[in-house]
Amino acid sequence: MPIVNRVADLHADITEWRRDLHMHPELQYDVHRTAGSVAEKLKAFGCDEVVTGLGRTGVVGVIRGKKGGSGKTIGLRADMDALPIEEQTNLPYASRTPGKMHACGHDGHTAMLLGAARYLAETRNFAGDAVVIFQPAEEGGAGAAAMIKDGLMDRFGIEQVFGMHNGPGIPVGSFAIRTGPVMAATDEIDIDITGLGGHAARPHFCIDSVLVGAQVVTALQSIVSRSLDPLDSAVISVCEFQAGNARNVIPQTAQLRGTIRTLTPHVRELVEKRVHEVVAGVALTTGAKIDVTYKRGYPVTVNHAMQTDFATRIAREIAGEANVHETPPLMGAEDFAYMLEARPGAFIFCGNGDTAGLHHPEYNFNDEAIVHGTSYWIKLVENALAA
Ligand SMILES: [Zn+2]
Ligand SMILES: [Zn+2]
Repeated sequence: MPIVNRVADLHADITEWRRDLHMHPELQYDVHRTAGSVAEKLKAFGCDEVVTGLGRTGVVGVIRGKKGGSGKTIGLRADMDALPIEEQTNLPYASRTPGKMHACGHDGHTAMLLGAARYLAETRNFAGDAVVIFQPAEEGGAGAAAMIKDGLMDRFGIEQVFGMHNGPGIPVGSFAIRTGPVMAATDEIDIDITGLGGHAARPHFCIDSVLVGAQVVTALQSIVSRSLDPLDSAVISVCEFQAGNARNVIPQTAQLRGTIRTLTPHVRELVEKRVHEVVAGVALTTGAKIDVTYKRGYPVTVNHAMQTDFATRIAREIAGEANVHETPPLMGAEDFAYMLEARPGAFIFCGNGDTAGLHHPEYNFNDEAIVHGTSYWIKLVENALAA
């Protein structure tokens, strides 16, 4: 089963929608134009239900199959938000809004799911409900969690949920997926050090916040190398270190900021605990006062085994056996993680070809990928809800 023929017919329309979204990027929850256009199209396609305002600006469409009510319901999710990046693609349809850009391909995700919705509403060759989910604020705003909090899963009776992201570096027409952890949890650490400032020539009367900060950074690096099982994964990156503004003054304070990535709840807990212990140890040996703020961000994105097998089978049918690969886990994060905590499902990568990377000012979603991604959505529904 290659791509769906009808999708090839729809390719021009879907491309047009995608480029229109690309020209009008919106950030976080402030996706009013995008959500409005999505809702309008879903109504025009003849969706049985179109609900707006879920998770502030999220949109949901329900399409009922013509083969009867199987009682089964599947959720498909796309994200709508862009990024605060100045676009440098020079495309004729480049962003019309300075400082905002669709640099993660969410324009493509939204357009492909709209294409699938149009096809599914036209054909309805399935038994049960297909629920298409368009969420705001994937880029750091936890829009998925907001939609779930507003009753997304229960209200529409969603039993399993699927997500897709484009993958630069993966050939167009190929897919990549894995069972278990596929993207990392991201947590933030803020470390504020208060020492005792003074003259650079009289360090014995001071508590040097720079030296304390250096010890904290070094000690944190021992967590991954010495507290973790070597077969587990984690990243601790301290990316900001601010202290002092004169060469002959030992500064009173220092601030460190960093990010922590982990792939299992167990490792996440271990790392968080060790961060507090290690910093408390440095405070004790140096006499500095050190405050740690550990803020949990998106959880680990964990693909469920059964749904991953199913998604892999569908991707293989569309792309061919040789073009569906097992991806290693990525240390980036995805708020689809919240949906996979709420319901079983799977997150897949759809090849975007040899383009600039995600979040790069020269990145662009590849319109050649549209037929593959859209066909995947359609076949996923028709097989999951087979009569
Ligand atoms: Zn992104
Ligand atoms: Zn993204």
